[in-house]
Amino acid sequence: MSEIKTQLVVLGAGPGGYSAAFRAADLGIDTVLVDARDTLGGVCLNVGCIPSKALLHVAKVIDDAKEMAHHGVVFGEPQIDLDKIRGWKDSVIGQLTKGLAGMSKMRKVQHVQGYGKFTGSNTLEVDGKDGKTKITFDNAIIAAGSEPVSLPFIPQNDPRVIDSTGALELKDVPAKMLVLGGGIIGLEMGTVYKALGSEIDVVEFLDQLVPAADKDIIKVYQKYVKDKFNVMLETKVTAVEAKDDGLYVSFEGKQAPAEPVRYDKVLVAVGRKPNGKLLDADKAGVAVDDRGFIAVDKQMRTNVNHIFAIGDLVGQPMLAHKAVHEGHVAAEVIAGKKHYFDPKCIPSVAYTDPEIAWVGVTEKEAKDKGIAYETATFPWAASGRAIASGRTEGMTKLIFDKDNGRVIGGAMVGINAGEMLGEIGLAVEMGADAEDVALTIHAHPTLNESIGLAAEIFEGSITDLP
Ligand code: FAD
Repeated sequence: MSEIKTQLVVLGAGPGGYSAAFRAADLGIDTVLVDARDTLGGVCLNVGCIPSKALLHVAKVIDDAKEMAHHGVVFGEPQIDLDKIRGWKDSVIGQLTKGLAGMSKMRKVQHVQGYGKFTGSNTLEVDGKDGKTKITFDNAIIAAGSEPVSLPFIPQNDPRVIDSTGALELKDVPAKMLVLGGGIIGLEMGTVYKALGSEIDVVEFLDQLVPAADKDIIKVYQKYVKDKFNVMLETKVTAVEAKDDGLYVSFEGKQAPAEPVRYDKVLVAVGRKPNGKLLDADKAGVAVDDRGFIAVDKQMRTNVNHIFAIGDLVGQPMLAHKAVHEGHVAAEVIAGKKHYFDPKCIPSVAYTDPEIAWVGVTEKEAKDKGIAYETATFPWAASGRAIASGRTEGMTKLIFDKDNGRVIGGAMVGINAGEMLGEIGLAVEMGADAEDVALTIHAHPTLNESIGLAAEIFEGSITDLP
């Protein structure tokens, strides 16, 4: 067994882990980064954010080309070459993981490939392709992420049952696919497969898709996709029977079909579970809860003083940008800086078509917490840019503190909503009020003018929409 002694070991090289390792190295800390994968980047780069966006880009081009028929330009039926699409997606992943490897090397962060488990409060054993390595560390950052939740009543070893990783492999385009779970990941993958030619059903146990977002925003999305997806709300899957000719799914609930429905594939997208229980963390004295989450304080410190944890395994929202910021905090605290993680808001985006994006306090949350709030909404049907783009279904909503007019949250649904959300996030973080946003001159004609216009509506300077 080889041995390494280091000031810092980071377990898991996802966005949280590599960001922490790079920041620590930049601050002069001798750092070792451990990951079971051959490449850095974790779930996000290898089987998450990035490959899904590469495929969503393909889907968007297909959908946009079809849409152009309404504007007088008719393209032929798309010829789908799955090998080439897969190759494109893999080249995107390759480019980014190679970049990370270069950045890691430049910073002299040592990458140890293998599965790591704690063997004591200052030791970790890594089992890799090149054998075992014992790592003795002064500090550790646990960044081991999460994995998809599987459902016990669904066949486990049937290749026709896939999770997000299986969906991203893009082995084929099933004629008919069920997306089990109407959250962000399920809808994004549904968008991809629909554009490639699958018929898609979506089943969601709750009464709206993307349950964390406000109902009015989701209503716009649901209306737009009603001809694209067959959505079954307040409905659950009770059984999946694997037969030679397909998977027969039984449903129960408000929109449940009376008879089992046959699908070629079922995509299970019911959430992700943290990997905290798989690390022998108890051997280091680190407390892991029943679900696999590790509790941390605002400095990302676990119950053990020199061991920190970040990313998906410390709690919701399970998002890459949250993990990155937490990683920076943990590294800086280890380097002796008085930093802590206390964002006012963390943006959420579904990169569907149209996109759904929200940040800060939602109306739902404001109601639950008894916050006195007001909203102002700008419908994109009144936006010149949206009309010129043939995409007027969108909507921009700002949420204000009723007492002082500060922006406390906001949401958008529509094309490019995710790109535009940053402005609302900045307003929330900076404590901007409606006047600040309304008086900021937005370029015309842009979709993000709708943010300024929503603020003007709140201000009362627009009483009637143009
Ligand atoms: P992860 O990225 O989960 O990485 C953890 C790493 O630790 C993995 O590489 C794993 O191999 C390694 N590991 C685990 N245990 C061990 C061990 N014992 N030893 C060695 N290595 C170990 N988020 C967004 O913000 N935007 C998006 O658009 C987005 N899209 C997504 C799409 C999909 C399909 C999926 C699945 C997720 C998406 N996410 C998105 C979520 C995002 O990927 C995660 O929030 C993010 O990757 C979490 O980062 P992390 O650093 O906590 O860990």
